[in-house]
Amino acid sequence: MSSDETSTNTTGIDPTVRQTGAQLATGENTNTLLQTDGLVKRFGGFTACDDVDFGVDEGELRCLIGPNGAGKSTLLKLVTGTYAASEGSIYYDGHDITDFEPHERVQQGISMKFQVPSVYGDLSVRENVRLPIQRFADGAERRRRVDDALTASGLSDHADAPANTLSHGQQQQLEIGMAASLEPDLLLLDEPVAGLDVEERAEIADRITRLNEERGIAFVVIEHDTEFVADIADHVTVLHQGEIFREGPIEEISADPEVKRIYLGGDH
Ligand code: ADP
Ligand code: MG
Repeated sequence: MSSDETSTNTTGIDPTVRQTGAQLATGENTNTLLQTDGLVKRFGGFTACDDVDFGVDEGELRCLIGPNGAGKSTLLKLVTGTYAASEGSIYYDGHDITDFEPHERVQQGISMKFQVPSVYGDLSVRENVRLPIQRFADGAERRRRVDDALTASGLSDHADAPANTLSHGQQQQLEIGMAASLEPDLLLLDEPVAGLDVEERAEIADRITRLNEERGIAFVVIEHDTEFVADIADHVTVLHQGEIFREGPIEEISADPEVKRIYLGGDH
């Protein structure tokens, strides 16, 4: 059957099926996990996200920086489905998720820790961790995932403490562990170290790096502090006025006078 073998398709793509944009951008023949295509978000007459093509590779750890109001949180909320896109597309792992409901995106493997803390202070650390997990797992699987999330958050020793006895930094750790308990392929973190001291920041950097290296979870982390960014990420995207302003290695970005200028608000 050698004549058949010569026509064997080694790419894994059936040439008779037309590839969708989602498959071309984020399908199995690429390393790209997430890709936005001409993404726009308007609030009334104001454009918060303006024609953004933002891509993240599988297992990558990307930082998203930019001045206040640049559109960073909006971009992540478009990816999670918190906001509906005004225009453009969002591709993820071979699927066009632009019109997916938020819970469908979670099922696809996208998880997010929002800017505002959302732990229940009266519940113990373990009970907080159990909340998102009990919706889809029970018995031994639930226990495994709860223990796993406690490990991921670095709070196994505080499992029975009420969450309101945790420091602000530990609460952030808890939320990262909770988001990781959904076993995502992509984890979005909106300012996970805002208001934290140097030691707490180092702890969060360590948690993020471990989840990235040990579990292969890709990250997009919003953060201003260039030291923290340099600690965890190589590649940085700068948003400014809703658009991608720069993209590149952190050393290049932090030395860029144009980036310094937008942070100082010199163009207003
Ligand atoms: P960043 O996270 O970079 O600080 P945001 O994405 O939160 O910026 O906001 C970008 C711009 O969009 C800001 O000017 C903000 O006021 C505006 N914006 C964000 N969310 C809304 C909303 N729900 N309604 C109206 N305007 C919004
Ligand atoms: Mg924000």
